[in-house]
Amino acid sequence: MIVVMKPGATQEQITRVSDRIEDLGFKVHLSAGEEHTILGVIGNGRPVERDQIELMEGVDRTVSIQRPFKLAGRDFHPQDTVFPIDGVTIGGQQLLVMAGPCAVETHDQLLAAAAAVKGAGGHVLRGGAFKPRTSPYSFQGLGEEGLRLLALAREKTGLPIVTEVVSPDLVPLVSAYADILQIGARNMQNFALLHAVGESKRPVLLKRGMMSTIEELLMSAEYILSHGNERVILCERGIRTFEKYTRNTLDISAVPLLKQLSHLPVIVDPSHATGKWELVGPVARAAIAAGADGLIIEVHPQPEEALSDGIQSLKPERFAALMDELRPIASAVGRTL
Ligand code: PEP
Ligand code: MN
Repeated sequence: MIVVMKPGATQEQITRVSDRIEDLGFKVHLSAGEEHTILGVIGNGRPVERDQIELMEGVDRTVSIQRPFKLAGRDFHPQDTVFPIDGVTIGGQQLLVMAGPCAVETHDQLLAAAAAVKGAGGHVLRGGAFKPRTSPYSFQGLGEEGLRLLALAREKTGLPIVTEVVSPDLVPLVSAYADILQIGARNMQNFALLHAVGESKRPVLLKRGMMSTIEELLMSAEYILSHGNERVILCERGIRTFEKYTRNTLDISAVPLLKQLSHLPVIVDPSHATGKWELVGPVARAAIAAGADGLIIEVHPQPEEALSDGIQSLKPERFAALMDELRPIASAVGRTL
């Protein structure tokens, strides 16, 4: 349930209602909008004594919320979530592009990729240090050495870094280096990991599981939010279908749908969604046109030598050309890049 306060309700009235709800044994989530203040009531499905609340001064009405995601949903929090990450902003008018190699491989590879991302106008450097690979025989990442190289690339370029964390015990280590913690598709429902990043102080990039519904993605975001971390970015990265020509099938409708259901920023990963570098540009353009708040794109200085995902990685000059192609599309949908 949500409690909608009257326009002009006083702080004292809001506090009284909030205290009353807590006295009844529920948690309160407060959202102060321009006109109305909304109090979200969280209580494990138990009914709330609505009449008691509706009779209180300053209360306009109560509305019951059927959706299982409360904190991630728009009912509790109608306005878009916008937050800064090291000088850049996500969720607002400005689009945010994260780019870099699938995995951190060497010092020279990462620094070349970072320079390319920076030079083309990218905002955040991506790169995996801990790689959740389908095969145990594939390159698993450099681990902490990879994190150190990412920190060095940040020092040289000023770009904040996003990197994946694959288990709860690694959250403190990865948080010590990364500006954004990435939860990969394979871990979207690793609830212990969601709990751990929920308690961390870093923004979280939550990727949709390859066989997860929109509601499951939002419930995973709910785990993070309910543990106190409000800075969550959702990422559509393609889902598994019968189609074989692409690695996954991009669910483009997920973008406007997530924006409708949730206040959280939504980005698209055209690299993992398609698995083919030739498709990355068209799909990235579609994502921006559909209302995404940003992109995460794999860029490698020498894709033919990449230890993972070379086939879907853009060369630096292709990435730069794509950034130029995206600018007029961004402006056509009222955004800037
Ligand atoms: C990645 O971004 O490198 C990655 C492994 O992506 P996903 O979790 O979406 O497969
Ligand atoms: Mn990859």
